[in-house]
Amino acid sequence: MAKRDYYEILGVDRDATPEEIKRAYRRLAKKYHPDVCKDPDAEEKFKEISEAYEVLIDPEKRANYDRFGHSSTREFFGKEGFDWSDFTHFHDIADLFERDFFGRDIFEIFFGSRGRRPGPRRGDDLRCDVEISLEDAATGVEKEISVFRTETCDLCNGSGARSSNDVRTCPDCNGTGQKRSEKKTIFGHFVSVTTCSRCGGSGKIITALCPRCNGSGSIKRTRRIRVRVPAGVDDGHTLRIRGEGESGIRGGPPGDLYVVVHVKPHEVFERRGDDIFTEIPITFSQAALGTEIEVPTLMSKARIRIPAGTDSGTVFRLKGEGMPRLGRRGRGDEYVRVKVVTPKRLTRRERELFEELARIEREKENRGSIFDRIRDKF
Ligand SMILES: [Zn+2]
Ligand SMILES: [Zn+2]
Repeated sequence: MAKRDYYEILGVDRDATPEEIKRAYRRLAKKYHPDVCKDPDAEEKFKEISEAYEVLIDPEKRANYDRFGHSSTREFFGKEGFDWSDFTHFHDIADLFERDFFGRDIFEIFFGSRGRRPGPRRGDDLRCDVEISLEDAATGVEKEISVFRTETCDLCNGSGARSSNDVRTCPDCNGTGQKRSEKKTIFGHFVSVTTCSRCGGSGKIITALCPRCNGSGSIKRTRRIRVRVPAGVDDGHTLRIRGEGESGIRGGPPGDLYVVVHVKPHEVFERRGDDIFTEIPITFSQAALGTEIEVPTLMSKARIRIPAGTDSGTVFRLKGEGMPRLGRRGRGDEYVRVKVVTPKRLTRRERELFEELARIEREKENRGSIFDRIRDKF
């Protein structure tokens, strides 16, 4: 099959600037990256894109390609044409694959065995949830949570080897982790550096695997972790616990643990910010005559005086009886709304009293209307 034109592959003009070439490559590499694209041809496609990019981004190679076409690259890359393992411009590729390109270190995933020597990497962050009551949110609480995470194998200390005698310097690369090969072409002398395939770039080989982790250097286990939830925390707040995430890779630091706090709805109180709200029923007579009632607070109880003639829906404030302010001094307030409740079932005696009350009210009304009539005459 005839090789496709490099400009055509990247979809750029023949006079495209390096910036345009880079942009086109970045877009296509993202689309056809074999980790992302499920198309069976994706890898081939990705190689084709990378080959085109490798040539067009290099001013010298590009000039040669413009003059001689594909025959020029064969000189560069040997008889078989482009050799995927001959990448010498890793720094260019690395530039394109920033760490958050796909939200992770793609460069390392895809070029892992061929690219730069694999270094330490920070462990992944973990997330878990904890549910607490409103009272616990008010006082602060210590909770124990279970976290299933990767930890460094404690038998081999992460080396993956059965014992320290089972780790040897890689004979293929003499411990450098890299292999250099030189090529002489009519255009000059080329040195390509590739990662040693035997040791994967670590420079070490393991002759007997650790029986606990099977050579991976890490194990999965459930850990119980105590979490201090601070007073005043609200539903949906996230606490970060440094270093309690997945263990780091190749000696990298561990990730963090994020604990999302859920505050259970309360039977009596509704929370709005640092304030809490509650509703207390009172009777007709209490509203009319006034009284003192006991109301629940977050910590215990309080008494409030209801003055005579209080309307249903009147709100009373208990200063400082709300939630503590997270990370600050002081507390919010408690608001108590009284609700006058109409009695549904009356005893005979109650009925008599209400009927008498009704008679008094009717007399009052009539007297009132006589007054009005008299007053209207003057
Ligand atoms: Zn181990
Ligand atoms: Zn090696």
